[in-house]
Amino acid sequence: MHSVAAHALDEIAGATGLDGLEAVRALYLGRGDGLLTIFRKQLGAVVDPQARRQLGQTVNELCERTAKALEERRAALEAAVRTRQLEIEALDLTRPAPRLCRGSLHPVTKILREVRRIFAQLGYSAASGPEIEYDRYNFTLVNMPPGHPSRETQATFFIDEWRVLRTQTSPVQIRSMIQHGAPQRIIAPGKTFRRDYDATHFPMFHQIEGLCIDEGVSLGDLKGTLEYFARSLFGPDRGIRFRPHHFEFTEPSLEVDISCMVCGGDGCKTCKHSGWLEVLGAGMVHPIVLRNGGIDPEIYSGFAFGVGAERLAQLLYVIEDGRLVYENDVRYLRQG
Ligand SMILES: [Zn+2]
Repeated sequence: MHSVAAHALDEIAGATGLDGLEAVRALYLGRGDGLLTIFRKQLGAVVDPQARRQLGQTVNELCERTAKALEERRAALEAAVRTRQLEIEALDLTRPAPRLCRGSLHPVTKILREVRRIFAQLGYSAASGPEIEYDRYNFTLVNMPPGHPSRETQATFFIDEWRVLRTQTSPVQIRSMIQHGAPQRIIAPGKTFRRDYDATHFPMFHQIEGLCIDEGVSLGDLKGTLEYFARSLFGPDRGIRFRPHHFEFTEPSLEVDISCMVCGGDGCKTCKHSGWLEVLGAGMVHPIVLRNGGIDPEIYSGFAFGVGAERLAQLLYVIEDGRLVYENDVRYLRQG
């Protein structure tokens, strides 16, 4: 009996986990067949009362000692588990912190804000119009009546017979003329849509439309304004040049080139070795358009211009494939 108890104490001391300890308890003190429990059950078989009492006392002592050892060992093992857990969960101030990823504005968003800021300095106020636009505003009132051939060149998304996803920001001009009359100066950045998708075209893109109407506004004013804009955005050495072009809503119409900011005008890959970059369309507002906007072309004249924000982003951040602007590659997005 004593040797069984001694074994029990040895095994308790050697138990390394709570599960192992529980197995030792069941082996020696298990309710039905524990090795020490059995001694107690057999007490009834001892005939001599005095011997039985003595034996009972010994069995009880051994059982109590074993139970106490079990309890102490359990407490020690539980404490060890808690300590280990604390060690694992401890805050180690010497470890390197996780890398912080800073967000940044999309290059096109930055361009739109910057252009608005530049023209705000010239007294232009920001204007906007609906992206789902009436055919009438998108085409007819900017001098592209039904059946006009140039409608065909703008691959249009039609909503229904009367409405389109606007193909240009020019309808904002008409809306603003009708609403505010003359004189006025507005800058209207916004989304435009065409059924185009290749290296230089995206079905959704941003145009920035500018309009200035007053008495005696001339081509010279347009040139001065665009020069100021080009220098503010691309640096003080930029020059601009006009090339005759054709738009329905302006007369005369011009394409505007900016001297290449990559090579400074000497010729490089970006400017196809011409020294100039095609950036804007512009011109004097067509008298028909002024009249459509409720403004008398006998009194007022004005100029308008339109520029692609993606094109500006492409030039400012030197991006080869314009589609990158919308592919959400963070390596590109971080460049701005
Ligand atoms: Zn160049």
